[in-house]
Amino acid sequence: MSVPIIEVENVSKSFGGVIANRSVSLSVPRGGITGLIGPNGSGKTTLFNSIVGYHPIDSGSIRLEGREISKLRVQEIARLGLLRTFQATRIYGKMNCVQNMLISIPHRKAGFFDMFASERGEVVERAEHLLAFVGLYDKRFLRAGSLSFGQQKLLEFAMALMNEPTVLLLDEPTAGINPTLINGLIERLKRANTEFGITLFIIEHNMRVIMNMADVIYCLAHGELLTSGEPGAIQRDQRVIDAYLGAH
Ligand code: ADP
Ligand code: MG
Repeated sequence: MSVPIIEVENVSKSFGGVIANRSVSLSVPRGGITGLIGPNGSGKTTLFNSIVGYHPIDSGSIRLEGREISKLRVQEIARLGLLRTFQATRIYGKMNCVQNMLISIPHRKAGFFDMFASERGEVVERAEHLLAFVGLYDKRFLRAGSLSFGQQKLLEFAMALMNEPTVLLLDEPTAGINPTLINGLIERLKRANTEFGITLFIIEHNMRVIMNMADVIYCLAHGELLTSGEPGAIQRDQRVIDAYLGAH
């Protein structure tokens, strides 16, 4: 077995008196699709925020390819190839899709406007290629704000791919998406994994989706790791069923 691409060890994080994560340990294997589930408020988003450097952790260790990253900032971690998308989309509604793609690259290298003309041509080509990959090529000159919510999420996914991540963390990618677009999104995520070799770590509320995609699933409850395993085992795990039932 190779070293996991992400290792989280005994990570705790509180907000005032609220313990959002309590001594969480998990590992994300390189090249796979790993799921993170748990009832609302169980600490999933907090864990993602800690991994990408959005806020400091109280204690514990987070490693990317064996290197400690828990003291690094978001931009530094992004430059190492670890990126995330948000539960709510972060696009610029007044700009068109291609423009959104071009402003999303500073994570990895010099911004678009600092580049030489030849390099810009390549980047525009890449933006268009990725827009085609997510099925938005025909809409590339439309204002991003005029797209449906599901299309905006596809655009956001393409924007993340512009940075050539090695690991992508997705926070509820299918939330709020029309069911007819969900299968298309799942296919694209799987292709990003197999064709581009991007390791995916996905928070997902939709059980059907995560069961269909993940190799291994971790389940949080009340900020603590409840269990982990293959999708089939997780689906039958009484503790997981109880955690979800107890949350409603
Ligand atoms: P999930 O993503 O699983 O729904 P979160 O990580 O968003 O859960 O939240 C876990 C707990 O931490 C919740 O009780 C939430 O209210 C709290 N929490 C999350 N972020 C903050 C914050 N920035 N300030 C205060 N409390 C927070
Ligand atoms: Mg959340």
